[in-house]
Amino acid sequence: MIPFNKPYCSGREISYIQEVCNSITMSGNGDFTKYCHGFFEKRYGFRKCLLCTSGTDALEMCAMLCELKPGDEVIVPSFTFVSTALAFLREGAHIRFADSGTENPNITAEAIAPLINERTKVIVVVHYAGVACDMDPIMDLAREHNLLVVEDAAQAIDAYYKGRPLGGIGHLAAFSFHETKNISSGEGGMLVVNDERFVRRCEILWEKGTNRAEFYRGMVNKYGWCDMGSSFLPSEIIAAFLWAQLEQMDDIQGKRKHIWEQYDQALRGKLHAGITVMPPLPAYATNNAHIYYLLCPSLDVRTRFMNYLKNHGVQTTFHYLPLHSSEYYKDKHDGRPLPQCDRYSDTLVRLPLFYSLQDEDVAKIIKLALAFK
Ligand SMILES: *Cc1c(COP(=O)(O)O)cnc(C)c1O
Repeated sequence: MIPFNKPYCSGREISYIQEVCNSITMSGNGDFTKYCHGFFEKRYGFRKCLLCTSGTDALEMCAMLCELKPGDEVIVPSFTFVSTALAFLREGAHIRFADSGTENPNITAEAIAPLINERTKVIVVVHYAGVACDMDPIMDLAREHNLLVVEDAAQAIDAYYKGRPLGGIGHLAAFSFHETKNISSGEGGMLVVNDERFVRRCEILWEKGTNRAEFYRGMVNKYGWCDMGSSFLPSEIIAAFLWAQLEQMDDIQGKRKHIWEQYDQALRGKLHAGITVMPPLPAYATNNAHIYYLLCPSLDVRTRFMNYLKNHGVQTTFHYLPLHSSEYYKDKHDGRPLPQCDRYSDTLVRLPLFYSLQDEDVAKIIKLALAFK
């Protein structure tokens, strides 16, 4: 069986974890955590980065930093993972779900604009498959209505919009290092702060509501409880693992792009039964090869296609189940139909894409897909 995903170890993870075992710091915010922060701050120019124990945690930090009050509204795409909405719901916000665009599953300024009212505080965008949302019109809307923009960049590592790195455009952003993402630490994530006004507070939320990080930098001579917070920071063991992956980032990205290109060259315009490959990337977006997906003409065809591949030894997956009609939220949703979200949810299928996927396996998957009628 060719699995849908296989987590990848770059080779140095164990030796870096051994270094942590030999050192005097195993809890968070040690040397490896600082290497990881520095990597992102230097390579992408992010104002401030903080590792978290998951992308979900990073989103929760974003939501806390937004200082929402009961009755405040947050606009979130319905076509996304649960955490994107859950993080803001936990802070007491009312979630207004927006539809995907017709071009690709991303949220659009056109879908957002009619949902803005005097209670709206935040727009959350998800760069689905690592493909940038059209950010300029969204940032314009936010400026016009004095809203914060949070980028759920969980899938968007090393991807750009008009030359700007994703995660560096909104006021705040969250990355994920879950085992299914391009760069992984098993579970893991990172908060990015781009707006100066959140720089001090983010560290306090991160360190259980204390100013311990400032204490360690020698900026204050004792530390104590000064705000809300939680224990969002991962241990050095996780950071050491992540650092081994970050050092190999260009190699990992190169390998994933190689697989992505093979799929695209062989399948674009050549599939049967009404199946198409993912739409071409918009001119403003770059490819980070996070996902290669196909779109089927109906749920029936997708089910048939996925079963066919499974019977021939290839595991594929679909996502997401729309959040607006989920068991948990359907009674809280305002009832608007979100047809594009439903369409992607019913028809999208993801092909295997992971570092150690061999060329002959890619060739086998391509051959099978082309033979499906
Ligand atoms: C993976 C993912 C998350 C959650 O990240 P975790 O690290 O698993 O908590 C959130 N949003 C999107 C769009 C994701 O793909």
